[in-house]
This record gives sequence, structure tokens and C-alpha cells, in this order.
Amino acid sequence: MPFWTATWSVATHFHFALLSLQREEAMRSLTSLFPQHSVVASTLCSPKTAGIMCSASSSYSATSSAVRLAAVHPVPSLTADEISAAASEAFARHSAAGLKRSGNGVAIVWFRNDLRVVDNEALLQAWAGSNALLPVYFVDPRHFGSTHLFGFPKTGALRAKFLLECLHDLKKNLKERGLDLLVKHGRPEDILPSIAKAFGAHTVFAHKETCSEELHVEKLVLKGLQQVILPQHERSNPKTVNPRLQLIWGSTMYHIEDLPFDAENLPDVYTQFRKSVESKSSIRECNKLPVSLTPLPSSSLGEVGGWGSVPTLGDLGLEEPKAGMHFIGGENAALGRVHEYFWKKDLVRVYKETRNGMLGADYSTKFSPWLASGSLSPRYLYAEVKRYEKARLANDSTYWVLFELIWRDYFRFLSIKYGNSIFHLGGPRKLVTKWSQDTSLFESWKGGHTGYPLIDANMKELSTTGFMSNRGRQIVCSFLVRDMRLDWRLGAEWFESCLLDYDPCSNYGNWTYGAGVGNDPREDRYFSIPKQAKTYDPEGEYVSYWLPELQPLPRERRNFPGKSYIKQVVPLKFENTTINRQNNFSTGKVWKKKDH
Ligand SMILES: Cc1cc2nc3c(=O)[nH]c(=O)nc-3n(C[C@H](O)[C@H](O)[C@H](O)COP(=O)(O)OP(=O)(O)OC[C@H]3O[C@@H](n4cnc5c(N)ncnc54)[C@H](O)[C@@H]3O)c2cc1C
Repeated sequence: MPFWTATWSVATHFHFALLSLQREEAMRSLTSLFPQHSVVASTLCSPKTAGIMCSASSSYSATSSAVRLAAVHPVPSLTADEISAAASEAFARHSAAGLKRSGNGVAIVWFRNDLRVVDNEALLQAWAGSNALLPVYFVDPRHFGSTHLFGFPKTGALRAKFLLECLHDLKKNLKERGLDLLVKHGRPEDILPSIAKAFGAHTVFAHKETCSEELHVEKLVLKGLQQVILPQHERSNPKTVNPRLQLIWGSTMYHIEDLPFDAENLPDVYTQFRKSVESKSSIRECNKLPVSLTPLPSSSLGEVGGWGSVPTLGDLGLEEPKAGMHFIGGENAALGRVHEYFWKKDLVRVYKETRNGMLGADYSTKFSPWLASGSLSPRYLYAEVKRYEKARLANDSTYWVLFELIWRDYFRFLSIKYGNSIFHLGGPRKLVTKWSQDTSLFESWKGGHTGYPLIDANMKELSTTGFMSNRGRQIVCSFLVRDMRLDWRLGAEWFESCLLDYDPCSNYGNWTYGAGVGNDPREDRYFSIPKQAKTYDPEGEYVSYWLPELQPLPRERRNFPGKSYIKQVVPLKFENTTINRQNNFSTGKVWKKKDH
């Protein structure tokens, strides 16, 4: 089947989602989502549904993968009707009837990491600045290549699946407002200029990015557009001969223009940044969405090969992911999760107390995958926190969601200040440190067989679901960097490959922080595994969920299984041990370095 004529099986996708929801409904009515209970639920669920979600495993065994699959649950855990109702209500609240457009001619909105219609300023400006609007998205093959240094898949199958769901959802939401989404496979700089030419578009509107790969694309797209000469009648003003590239800021809660300092002079310490923006800046209101965004440009589709279709995972050379915690991609699901977290389950009132959890969906917001794909606007979240505080309650927990979102902003602005140094071994501080690239140690970390249940469980969760809690991320990062003494970029690139919420600023920002090469004044942050296990998983529920072989052990021993579990690959940095790390553990080859 030719690549671009391949039809994405929407039916299959939604069938899967529906089955997940049905199964989830059954599971929920039987028991909670915790492992020992879900095992009961899985055996009670009908063989038909259980077979679909549990790899057709008919009998339960404590060590079978069915145990893990049995606890699969969608995020949000709402029915399709509930998601749709929550999204419709949010769309209605963020739409305005009397909006007027003042522009002429055709504009293009180029979707990047902003796959939403609510509070999408690029979409709104493109609509207002034209009298016909063409939305486009490029499935850029570079995103499905390899990571920069170590050659992992740049976008793992789980994130790819999430992204494809986002694209379907965006297409649907645009269609409901009278538009559509032109989906093209290729590099934007190669295709966008010819689309602009074919449609006589005077402007391409898009959201501004901050990291080198994305900036490079912006530069090339601009160059390409400058080669296009618009006919006289298509020009937005007589002097503008080429289509313009209009880049708009929209990825953060605080707008860059509202910061009390230039991004280049950003305070180096988070607390200073936060206090400064909280006292001197305010957060803008969400942009209201016109009820209808019509019309589409009348012709020229034939010239660019039609609407195209969202590819399948197979088209992208990826395999269908294994089951696990299933985040549903797209703006509707994002709005559904916000509804569920704030209004239906009232979880935001206890966020500060629960946020360090590791098991289940509800200890933290789980907004990050939708924030990273831009299916959710951080300003929308700010507005929801304020609405909740007015309607129900304002406390430390409601504030703390904003506190965490300010971290996200901070890392985004830091990427402007420090540029590519966030990707470099020495980080923004340009520290010269000796790191190992021992492949066998790294493989044990990556695959979750280090001999430390807390590390192994977290790494298995990451590869199975594309998600890991913030607590887990800090622990596995500290272990890789401090106990294994491995090059932190190995960890960062593996996260880049796997995470549903991968975002270069937050990922590399947090890794440089954890590796002590960021601008954190507390340089040597060490997370002691025994201490973390006792504090955050005292009953061993989390580790035995991901490592079912630990389930038979007494609860207090699950994190400390001794010889009944696999051998530890390294001793801990701050634990008395007689083992000589150099001689006994570092057996693997050293990674072959590529140029940086
Ligand atoms: C080594 C490491 C790598 C990370 N990589 C990423 C990444 O690629 N993408 C990403 O979005 N987050 C990353 N984080 C931050 C954080 O772990 C996740 O944002 C969080 O776990 C997502 O879950 P949640 O939405 O339930 O978060 P919540 O606890 O509910 O927080 C709400 C939101 O605040 C933001 N936030 C919270 N903590 C942080 C933080 N430390 N840094 C930046 N934003 C934060 C996120 O947008 C999050 O969705 C990383 C953290 C570490 C330690």
C-alpha cells in the first residue's frame, strides 16, 4: 500500500479505546486499580473482554504478564460520553459568538506542538488575519529517526500512538468547526512553501519553539517561503512579495512578553524566578475560539495531493505497543482528564499530599502528555484552577498545581537562556566530569534488571506505558548518575525515546539538574533508594505491581528482597559495602561515541 494512500484505521483505534473503557468499567465496579485487587477483577471479568486486554490469557499466574495487563486502565478513566460532554462544555466556555475577522486572502496555520483548538493563538490569528484558512500538519520523518548520540528510536511507539490519536482528534475538532487538517508526510521546509504557493497564502502562522532542532526547521521554512513569489492579488499588502512566517508564543503559562526580565537574564534559581513572576507578572486569559472557522480555501487541494491521512504506526515503522496504562491522545481526552481530576473526582484538593505517589493514575494530575503535545494549554489549566478555587476551595494543593506548572515554564525559558548547553555533557555549568558509558550497566538500568526493585519497577513502567511518576524519574536519574556513574545523556535520551510527555526543555532541564550540571545550587542531589522505598513504597505495592515475582514476599521485604531477587549490578554510593565497583561490576563495553 503506498504510504500516503494508507488509511489509518480509525475504527480499529476507537474500537480498542471503547473496549478499554468497557473493560475499565467492569474492573472499576469490581475493585480498585491496585494490583492485588485487579488480579481478582481480571479473573472475574468475562473471558471475552479479558482476552482482549490480557493477551488472551485464560488462567492467572502470579508471574505472568497478564497480571500487569489486568490492571490496564485508560487515562482519563471516563466513558466516551463523559469525555465528549466534558470537552463540549469546555469548548462552549471558551468560544465566543461575535468574533470578527479582519484579514483577506488565505492564511495557513501550521500545527506543531500545539495540537488543540482551545486557546490556540496561532489558529485564532490565522483565522482573524484571513478570509480562508488552511490547517496543516507535517509528519516529519526526522521525528521517527534516532536520538542524537545513542541511536534510540527518537519517538518510541507509545508516544507515536499517542501523537496519532492527537492528530485524529484535532482533525475531528477542526472539521466540527468547518475546517479540516491537511496531513503531509515530509519535512515542513520541503513542502510548506509549495503549499503556500498553491494556495496563494500570504501568511503561515505557527507557534514558536525554543530548541535547536525546531529553530532550525523554522529557519529553513522561512527561507523556503522567501523563494515563493505571490501574485499581486494574493499579497496581504502590496510590498509583501513572499508569504510571511508569523511565529507566536504559546507554550507557557506566563507569556514571554510578560516576564519581568528578558529570557536571557532569567534568574538561575527556580525560587527567584517563581517569586519574581508571581509578584510582577500576570497570566493572560485564554483566547476565545470562534464557533465556526470556515471557510477553507476554495481550490488547489489537487495540486498538493489532497488532504492526506494520518499514518498508521506501521507506516512509521513502529509496532503496536504492548498494553499498559493507556493515555488517550487528543484534546478531547485532555479536557476530559481535567474535568475528571478537578471536578468529577475532586483530586486537586489533595494534590500536594498525593503528588509523590507512584501507583495508579490519580496521585498526580497526569496532564503532562497533553501539555507536551499541546493538546492542552497551560493557561487553560490556570483558568481551571481559579474556577475551582472560586467554586469549591482554594488551598495549598490547588496552588501547588500552579507551582509545578511554573517549573515547566522555567525550563522552557531556561532553554532560551542556555541554548544547546542543556544537551551537552557539562550542561549549562560547563562542568568537566568523568562519566562512564558502560553498556551492560546501562542495559540493566534501561531494561529494569539492576537488582534494585524500585529502579526496576520504574523502568518497566516507563517502557510499558510511556509514563513514570516525578518521584520515580528523580530516583532513577539519581541512580544512573550517582550510583552507576553513567553519562546522564544516556538516561536523558532513553527518556526522550520513551516518554509520552517528552519535551526537550523539561527533559533535558531536569536531567541536567539531576546530574548536577544544571544551575541547581544543591549540586549533589542524591536519592537514597532504601530511604525512598521506605518513604514512598513502604508496603512494596508499587514494586510488586511491576515485578509480580515480589508479590509472595512479606510487604516490608518487597523492596529489600535480598537473594530471592536478581543480583544488584552496583553497590549504592552511600552504603557500606566491600565490593569493588571497578573490578566486579564494570564488565560491559564502552559506548562508541558519536560526534556531538
Ligand atoms: C529526569 C526527569 C525528566 C523529566 N522529563 C520530563 C519531560 O520530558 N516532560 C515533562 O513534561 N516533564 C518531565 N519531567 C517532570 C515531571 O516528572 C513530569 O512533568 C511529571 O511527572 C508529569 O506528571 P504529572 O502531569 O502527573 O505531574 P504533576 O505532578 O501533576 O504536575 C503538574 C504539571 O506540572 C509540570 N511539572 C511538574 N513537575 C515538573 C518538573 N520537574 N519539570 C517540569 N515540569 C513539571 C508538568 O507539566 C505537570 O504535568 C521530568 C522530571 C525528571 C526528574
